[in-house]
Amino acid sequence: MTNVRDILTKYWGYTSFKPMQEEIITSVMDGKDTVALLPTGGGKSLCFQIPAMAMDGICIVVSPLVALMGDQVNALKERGIKALKLTGGISFDELNTLLDNTLYGNYKFLYLSPERLQQEIVQNYIKQMNVNLIAVDEAHCISQWGNDFRPAYKNITLLREIHPLIPIIALTATATPEVLEDTISELKMELPAVFRNSFVRENLSYQVFKEEDKLYKTEQFLKTNNGSAIVYVRNRKGTIEISEQLNSLGISATFYHGGISAKEKAQKLQAWRNGVVSTMVATNAFGMGIDHANVRFVIHLQIPESLESYFQEAGRAGRDGQYAAAVLLYNEYDKIYVKQQFVESLPTTSDLKNIYRTLSNYFQIPYGEGEFTKHNFGFSEFCKTYSLNTLLAYNALNSLDRLGIIQLSQEFGRKSIVQFLISSEKVLQYFEKDITTSVIGKTILRIYGGIFEMPTAINLDLIVNKTGQPIETVISILKKMERDQVVEMTLQITDATLTFLVPREDDKTINVISREVEALNRKKKAQVNSVLNYIANTKTCRSVQLVMYFGETTASKCGICSVCKTQTKKLSKTEMQQLAEQILALLEEAELTSREISEKLTFAETDILKVLRLLMDAEKINANPKNQYYLN
Ligand code: ADP
Repeated sequence: MTNVRDILTKYWGYTSFKPMQEEIITSVMDGKDTVALLPTGGGKSLCFQIPAMAMDGICIVVSPLVALMGDQVNALKERGIKALKLTGGISFDELNTLLDNTLYGNYKFLYLSPERLQQEIVQNYIKQMNVNLIAVDEAHCISQWGNDFRPAYKNITLLREIHPLIPIIALTATATPEVLEDTISELKMELPAVFRNSFVRENLSYQVFKEEDKLYKTEQFLKTNNGSAIVYVRNRKGTIEISEQLNSLGISATFYHGGISAKEKAQKLQAWRNGVVSTMVATNAFGMGIDHANVRFVIHLQIPESLESYFQEAGRAGRDGQYAAAVLLYNEYDKIYVKQQFVESLPTTSDLKNIYRTLSNYFQIPYGEGEFTKHNFGFSEFCKTYSLNTLLAYNALNSLDRLGIIQLSQEFGRKSIVQFLISSEKVLQYFEKDITTSVIGKTILRIYGGIFEMPTAINLDLIVNKTGQPIETVISILKKMERDQVVEMTLQITDATLTFLVPREDDKTINVISREVEALNRKKKAQVNSVLNYIANTKTCRSVQLVMYFGETTASKCGICSVCKTQTKKLSKTEMQQLAEQILALLEEAELTSREISEKLTFAETDILKVLRLLMDAEKINANPKNQYYLN
């Protein structure tokens, strides 16, 4: 057996291990099932890559994200290690060739998505491979108690069945005690050795502020930023608006969300990584796998739906070990909103019964039948037909999917995205060539006003209705416009396909899962409450609160979060005096609001307000109706 330290140095050029890496590697090399719970940036990849290099054979890595796989495979190749990945969009022939390579080509790593494991050809090849280790990245995706549940992750147990004697290493950066327990049991791991490094991030200052003018506060932070930043907002429109506003304030920003084209995503990511643009305003689609060292601020402009996702998103700040801030800005309305959006719209068992029966009627499934039948499914049409509340219906369908009653294809919830590439005059000239093109094109322009400025989600059903043209014609015209480089688009022909996984038995079907439904709902409520408690608790160190949530009870106060700072940094008498003098000096020049004063001084806003009050009490200053202070 080769020395693992030699491998570390030879292939990666590092001279020492990060905390826990060596223990984890030893456990894997001893043939034990192993769980590696390390925070983001903790160096999880080497925990399976080094043992795989030290042993004969090939390591199979299951990973949820194509982009992540691509990055890892490229990084291995750059180090002269043979690795390949199986992602979507590979033809059968290509797949055969790739898999042949893994058998005869001395490959050390095979990366694949969990969906791939369903394919018999993939299973057959894996049976013949000399597998030395099964690595499950982002392993918590197998737990339906976690936020990132991926039903396809359940396929991973197939690997255990094919190679029962080969150890599994499960890697994750987020696991509450209950998700961890569930992950271990779902993966069928046998008495695994669990290694957990502290989730405390000593260089990260968690800050929470109630703030009505979030943009102003964001500007105050970002104005001082000499690295990169991420601003998380709830929806796509918000990413565009906030990034425009930041740009107009002189802070270079761009936006990122799930609806923009892959090409644009790559461009934006590169500009941000290279520092050409400092701030990325994004939805939570900007996430997993973002490995950028120099992020000084992660600012949330709304309340996240769980501490799990908050911790992960906030954790993208300060990966280089230098001081960084994770700021959460909220107002009273946000609290109501988060409850409405994530708690009050949770489908109850009786909602599920309703939707399930409606769905079965919609597709005319006879009682006792329908198992494994597949249907094209237009969600908006469905909701319209039965006058359903779309948010509730959407959540209910997702629950039915999660609980194995139906299966929705991955496009569910996505729409066709179109963007015009040429000017409006040229578009109109183009339309003149053909009457059908003109009818369809102009209808799109009429319905979607901003389509020239940005990629826009369009509803094909609606265009069919408005133009009276069949769906095939609408699609073929759009495709022609794409070929002629008039538009760029990603097309979803139907909203989704829907497969019934069990025979229709109406309420009986749902009764079987009712306990799970209630448990999931309780869990979701508890998650939202944990976030609200985190915000409300201004007594306990923010870092302590967060790591306690992940089961770590021994952490000590960080000293740098917004709670610790207010507790420790009470101004001394001399400092108060200094502050008072500075304020008086400023007011000698001009009448100023408290905000303007705090912009000019380095003291905390709360201290400034306190001193302003004292100065008012002492009748040294006064305020006018515009809330500007002036000298008496
Ligand atoms: P994670 O998956 O836990 O977020 P990665 O595996 O991506 O972390 O590792 C984070 C960074 O740390 C990578 O740049 C990696 O090369 C580096 N790294 C990993 N192990 C070591 C080590 N022993 N010494 C120095 N750097 C390391």
